[in-house]
Amino acid sequence: MNWNWKKFNKEISNYSAKQKNLFRSYYCAGCKQRKPCQLLTSWDSEWKSYCCHCFYQTEQAKVEEYNDYQQVYQRNLVERQAHIQQYQLLKDYLGCPKCGSLAVDAYSLYSENRLVCQPCRMKKEGGSSSPISFLEQGKWYKKRWGIILTEWLDKYGCLPVNAECAIKWLKDKKHLDNCQCLEIEAKGHYLLVNDNLKRSWERLKECKCVKSEKVRVSSDNYAWCESCEKTISVASKKRVIKNRNDPRFWGLNVKEKVLCGKCLESKKEKMPPLRRAEFNRYRKTGRL
Ligand SMILES: [Zn+2]
Ligand SMILES: [Zn+2]
Ligand SMILES: [Zn+2]
Ligand SMILES: [Zn+2]
Ligand SMILES: [Zn+2]
Repeated sequence: MNWNWKKFNKEISNYSAKQKNLFRSYYCAGCKQRKPCQLLTSWDSEWKSYCCHCFYQTEQAKVEEYNDYQQVYQRNLVERQAHIQQYQLLKDYLGCPKCGSLAVDAYSLYSENRLVCQPCRMKKEGGSSSPISFLEQGKWYKKRWGIILTEWLDKYGCLPVNAECAIKWLKDKKHLDNCQCLEIEAKGHYLLVNDNLKRSWERLKECKCVKSEKVRVSSDNYAWCESCEKTISVASKKRVIKNRNDPRFWGLNVKEKVLCGKCLESKKEKMPPLRRAEFNRYRKTGRL
């Protein structure tokens, strides 16, 4: 048998190097200092992963956004009002004067309150968001919520809050006078977000993310200054940032983890005097 051990060994070491590479890029995309244990998060669409602590912080921020129940309610109210106006606009649309189509560009309608002919835009620009027409929308509401869209817009000047609201109204025509569906929906949303946070807090106690003192980056050779985006060379093949590019090394307490010499310079006044003197020496000798 002609077994090539040399080749075999080489393949094995290539394979493990590849494995190591995969492993190395597993540092949290947020803090760059924790290797995620994946208890609270998984990969996002850009193949970025966050550690449990960073994930929890994002969730916390989300709760803050929903914390004020009145605010959520008001926001929903405004959104709903806008939606009704857009339907009114669509209902009165006589069609495109050029091609006669009743379909308009959904994006222009929802985000700009404008009626733009979808087929014409498609022809002219080679692209468009999905078409939307009053007829189609009417069919949707009839099928999903069992209501007649024109009747709602003409008679009541509003729309049911959601499917449950439509069901309640179908049973009891007086429901509109005493509809609290929007309040219920806002409250539900608020509770859901808070429950999620509580659950995450419980799970956080079991977190096994590995913390490293060094800031890790996702490339073998380069990192980017988090302020001006200039490239910075990485200290070693271990994807560790050089101390000198770590603001903490200079006694700075800032949100950036990686900064170039120029950007550090702009924060020089905040460095402790001894560190600042050292920093000046680094700058003068061109090490930073
Ligand atoms: Zn993190
Ligand atoms: Zn047209
Ligand atoms: Zn209701
Ligand atoms: Zn963890
Ligand atoms: Zn910079």
